[in-house]
Amino acid sequence: MERPVTQPVRAAQRPARLVILGQPVAHSLSPVFQRAALRVAGLSISYDREDIAPDQLAEALTRIAAEGGGGNITIPHKEAAASLVARCTPLARRVGAVNAFWTEHGALVGHNTDVAGAVATIEALCSRDLVNARNMPVVLIGAGGAAAATLVALHDLGYRHITIVARNPARAQALSARLAIDTQVVSIDTAEEAVGEAALVINATPVGLRDDAFPVAVRALPARCAAFDLVYRPGLTPWIAACRRAGLRAEDGLRMLVEQGAAAFETWFDIPAPRAAMWEALNAAPPTYDA
Ligand code: NAP
Repeated sequence: MERPVTQPVRAAQRPARLVILGQPVAHSLSPVFQRAALRVAGLSISYDREDIAPDQLAEALTRIAAEGGGGNITIPHKEAAASLVARCTPLARRVGAVNAFWTEHGALVGHNTDVAGAVATIEALCSRDLVNARNMPVVLIGAGGAAAATLVALHDLGYRHITIVARNPARAQALSARLAIDTQVVSIDTAEEAVGEAALVINATPVGLRDDAFPVAVRALPARCAAFDLVYRPGLTPWIAACRRAGLRAEDGLRMLVEQGAAAFETWFDIPAPRAAMWEALNAAPPTYDA
């Protein structure tokens, strides 16, 4: 099986402090589980939230580089950060987005660990099918930044029959061309038809985040299909809850969130991420909708 991009990347220098940059960022769960990981690992390094407007991002990154810092980047800055850091890892360059960064010799390096988060979730959902991944039809709904990371994950896990269902098919075609990954693109109007043979259906749109809508009807999914919703919210997303009631293997986006964080932790510190402590902190945290 091809696994070229999920090879571990290690920072040459440990960050002196950690931050998450986003807007809004007040309810981000990353400080909750990263602080728990730092505590358990015995690292006395802070992890702070910084609410940064798009026009403040360059200045914030310059300041953090001067401090020898690192951290995470969340909505809406992941794509902008890829062009503001001094160097992107090959994976961040390929995805076109940075969600984890650190300083090396005064200059920022940007990486993408969302791909590792998506890989971990797909492996957890589909482990028994991965040897056959190449022949398994997969449907990815959405064509934005999270879909880009997920498409790279699918490709590198060996999937070759990928259909993107998009509200804006031209955006999906552009994504597929930019990543040089062959896909079939269909309109959201034909979503139910598109999932008819799928072994795995992935929602990479915000549908279900703040409403009870489904990205595609559960009755359209084949009986042996697995469902992965990148969205997470207090309790399960309505789509994943309905998929499980229908007897399907189904996961929301929490594992992807934790695994992208664990991959970032391992990149910064070159030690295994204490995942159990991260999950424990997350499960004890007050419910929130934000990454
Ligand atoms: P984005 O760049 O804004 O892309 C969103 C995509 O969803 C676009 O293709 C958009 O279509 C499509 N879309 C939006 N509303 C839709 C609707 N009502 N029906 C059909 N398609 C719709 O956002 P993103 O960064 O990719 O994030 C997408 C979601 O993934 C977020 O809401 C977040 O919850 C989740 N996420 C989770 C994780 C995790 O760790 N679990 C990580 C990243 C993101 P258009 O192209 O037509 O606008």
